[in-house]
Amino acid sequence: MKTNSGYSTMAAQQKQEEKLWDAVKTSAMVLGTGLLIFTAFMNSASWYVQKIWETSGNFWQTAWLNLYNRFEGKEWSLFLFGAALVPALAFWCFNGILMVADVTGKPTFITRYRIQLGKNDPVDTKKLRQAIYTALFNQFFISLPMLVPMFHVMKWWGNTFSKELPTFQWFLVELSIFTVTEEILFYYSHRLVHLPLLYKHIHKKHHEWTAPIGVVSIYAHPLEHILSNTLPVMTGPMIMGSHIVSIAAWFSLALITTSISHCGYHLPFLPSPEFHDFHHLKFNQCYGVLGVLDYLHGTDTVFRQTKAYERHRVLLSLTPLSESIPETPKRAE
Ligand SMILES: [Zn+2]
Ligand SMILES: [Zn+2]
Repeated sequence: MKTNSGYSTMAAQQKQEEKLWDAVKTSAMVLGTGLLIFTAFMNSASWYVQKIWETSGNFWQTAWLNLYNRFEGKEWSLFLFGAALVPALAFWCFNGILMVADVTGKPTFITRYRIQLGKNDPVDTKKLRQAIYTALFNQFFISLPMLVPMFHVMKWWGNTFSKELPTFQWFLVELSIFTVTEEILFYYSHRLVHLPLLYKHIHKKHHEWTAPIGVVSIYAHPLEHILSNTLPVMTGPMIMGSHIVSIAAWFSLALITTSISHCGYHLPFLPSPEFHDFHHLKFNQCYGVLGVLDYLHGTDTVFRQTKAYERHRVLLSLTPLSESIPETPKRAE
């Protein structure tokens, strides 16, 4: 009996080893095949991406040369077109859509994503008109004249009117430098205008809107518009001596993102505006753009304890706020 049991134990062990070996072989085969397919896929995918990139690269380069020739080398006109007209069109088209929602409350799918419930529902048209006038004033009489010294800096220092476009990779490098420059300059200039004396005479205007809307992003005192809105965005391209196409893209992007952070709606697929919306609600929190300097200086500690912060952290909020976390902290004063 003892021997039999010994044999059966050995047989069972052998069987188990065989099974294990089989499992290892199967796994190796599956992994090997998977790796082979994956490598083949990656090779062909990168080949396709490369091809698409080359084709679209040629497309943009050709489009740029056409535009360049159309301006017949008139660099100032080209500069005005890229640094003023394109960003202004981007700003007003985007804000036009937002304003329709603010005034009419339609389309309802947008208004259901409103952060501060019951505010601007609908927006006060008199206040809105005032905001539009100030925004236009700042664009025409502050931003536009500031382009004159910038143009001369770019001519002297930059590669702004080169016939060759920068590569996409270089544009991404520039974009990260622009973003960091903006974060630093905006954060500290913004904290500066929150000093009681400067706040009273300069920044209070921008804070008239405790529940902001898109166009309020450039509703500010002229001095603030120079110091906090325009210089932080202009400095990056001036340091890098950027191409006019990069400048046009960056200015448009900066104007659209600041409009989003003021728009009052936390819409899906768009960056969260909760951070700056909270600044308008509480005044002494969330001064920056990215939030990095607020984290380092501890100026976001109250924000981090709120429902708004929970919503802010969700990268893709698909549920309308009125149906998810409706609680909005009360204004501190
Ligand atoms: Zn603001
Ligand atoms: Zn402020």
